[in-house]
Amino acid sequence: MPDRISRLRGLFEPAGIDAFYVTNPENRYYLSGFSGSTGALLLTHEHSYLLTDFRYTAQAALESPEYRVIEVAGTYAEAIFRILEKNRLVRLGLEGDHQTCNQYFNLGKVCEGVQIKPLRDKVEQLRVIKDESEIGLIEKAVSIADHAFEQILPLVKPGISERDIALELEYAMRRMGAEGAAFKIIAASGVRSALPHGVASSKTIAAGDLVTFDFGAVYQGYHSDITRTVAVSSTNLRQKEIYKIVLEAQVSAIAAIKAGVRASDVDHAARSIIENKGYGECFGHSTGHGLGLNIHENPRLACRDDTVLEPGMVVTVEPGIYIRNWGGVRIEDTVLVENNGCRILTKTPKEKLLVL
Ligand code: ZN
Ligand code: ZN
Repeated sequence: MPDRISRLRGLFEPAGIDAFYVTNPENRYYLSGFSGSTGALLLTHEHSYLLTDFRYTAQAALESPEYRVIEVAGTYAEAIFRILEKNRLVRLGLEGDHQTCNQYFNLGKVCEGVQIKPLRDKVEQLRVIKDESEIGLIEKAVSIADHAFEQILPLVKPGISERDIALELEYAMRRMGAEGAAFKIIAASGVRSALPHGVASSKTIAAGDLVTFDFGAVYQGYHSDITRTVAVSSTNLRQKEIYKIVLEAQVSAIAAIKAGVRASDVDHAARSIIENKGYGECFGHSTGHGLGLNIHENPRLACRDDTVLEPGMVVTVEPGIYIRNWGGVRIEDTVLVENNGCRILTKTPKEKLLVL
C-alpha cells in the first residue's frame, strides 16, 4: 500500500492538486485495503486520511494501519473541508467519474476558497500494472473458474436449462472460496449463442446446440473471466468451421501479446483472421480488456486503443463470431503480459468443441 500511495502522490503536481479525494470503492480498496461498504480517502502530500462512519471505524483501523481514520458524523464534504483548512490546502482533485452532480456541487458550496478539479483515471492508471500479490489473486480467481467449469461440464446435456447450469457454476465457484460470480453468468444455447451477452435464461439445452459459457469468479476483490463454447451431443460442419476460425483468431492474438506491442495490434491479429474468412461483420466487439478489481479495466484490446503493453498487465483475449438466427462462438482466456510474450493463466482446454 505505501508504494501505491506514493505513486499516486507523484501524480499530484502534474495534475495541479495538493490533495486527492478518492470515492471509487475499488480505488479506495486498492490504496487502503479497507473493505467496508462506506468510506472515502483523502490523500495529501504528507497525510493519508480514511473517512468513514461509526459502523466501520474499528474495521478501518485494523485493515488500513497507514491511514488516520476519521469518523464522519456530519457530511463528507464538511469533513473534507476541515482537513483541507487545517492543512492549508486549496487545490483538491476528485474522481470525476465517481461523484454525482449533487455531491460535486455540495462539495463546492461547503469548501469555500478551495479549487476543485474533477480528474479522470488517476488511480486506474496505477492499477493497470498488477503487482505480484495482485497477480496471485487473479490466478486464484482464474483457477476457481477453471475448476468450476470442469465440475459442471458433465452436466451439460440435452434437457438441462441454461439457468440451472449457471446456478451450478456459481455454486461450484462459491464452494471454492469465491465471493461471487464476476458478473451475471452468460449461458447462451442454440440461436441464443448469437447474443454476445446472453445471460442464462430458462431455455433448455438441446442436442446439437452450441452453448457459450462466459463467467468468472471474484476472489478477494479480484476477477477472472473465461468463455468456452461447446457443442452438445453432436456437431455439424458449419459449427466446426466457425469454431476453427475463432480458435485460430484467439491463438494468433495471444501469440501477438508481449511487452512493447500496442493493444490495437493484438486486436488486429484476431480481427484480420476473422475478416479474411468473411466474418468481419459478425465480430462487433473488441478482442479483450484488462481486468483486476473490476471486470473491465484498461487497456482495451481494441482497434482504437494504442496503449503499449507492459509486463504486469493482465488482459483477456476473446474474439467471437455471432450469426443471427444461427448461433455463435466465443473463446476467452486471461493472460499476463510478460517481456517476451505472455503467460496464459486460464487452463481449461479449448481445442475440443464437442461434449457428449
Ligand atoms: Zn468473459
Ligand atoms: Zn471478458
